[in-house]
Amino acid sequence: MSPLLIIDPGHGGLDPGGGSNAKFKEKDMTLQISLYQSRRFQELNIPTVMTRTTDTTLSSEQRTAIVRSSGARYCISNHINSGGGHGAEAIYSIYSQATLAKHLIEELEIAGMPARRVYTRTYPGNPKLDYYFMHRETGSVETVILEYGFADNPVDAGMLETDWEKLAEAVVRGFTEFVGKEYKPPVPAQPAEPVPVHWNSLPAWKREGVDWLYAQGLLTDQEWRGRIDEPLPLWAEAAVLKRLYGKLSNGRQS
Ligand SMILES: [Zn+2]
Repeated sequence: MSPLLIIDPGHGGLDPGGGSNAKFKEKDMTLQISLYQSRRFQELNIPTVMTRTTDTTLSSEQRTAIVRSSGARYCISNHINSGGGHGAEAIYSIYSQATLAKHLIEELEIAGMPARRVYTRTYPGNPKLDYYFMHRETGSVETVILEYGFADNPVDAGMLETDWEKLAEAVVRGFTEFVGKEYKPPVPAQPAEPVPVHWNSLPAWKREGVDWLYAQGLLTDQEWRGRIDEPLPLWAEAAVLKRLYGKLSNGRQS
């Protein structure tokens, strides 16, 4: 089955991308977002491919050749902006409608990243050509360039750092709805059940101290042996300290 969508993590390898700051590089942020989206589209049964899945260098010719030969109908090219703005931007081709671009930007806005603009841009001196090679050289694949926010804006950068997954998901949702497929939110990861500990297989230095606590009567419930690597709740810690204090006080009196 040919893919419906090709995701393009902007830049990569020798080209870090201008949307970088002290905390992240554009090429890593776009790859992180794209890999997440690829996994989610797989869950939603939307056939998707990527222009790169690792930190590799792609020339504009190589990148657009991959898009053109992918067989995909749509391409989302993920980028991080810079240059003193605030919010998300979507750029669509002069030969396509604004519908998909608008839809994706609206979802990003719902997720908390303000919409800055949705626009097209023509090549200087030639109104029949797109300005960006991702539009100009991707053939019949409908490409939207998405700028998730500005790396040099502290609000945008902070949100990208902590909430990039939320923004990535917003685009998954927007695209899924745009192509008329059923959207299901991601299933939150269940907190991992603590693995039961086999007391006798533990190293002696771990057992020693805990054995002492039981021997002294400071710890009584045997259940704690099975949770030796976990912190005690405050009330249990308080009980241990109280017993210890009691022991010490009695010791002094006798
Ligand atoms: Zn970029």
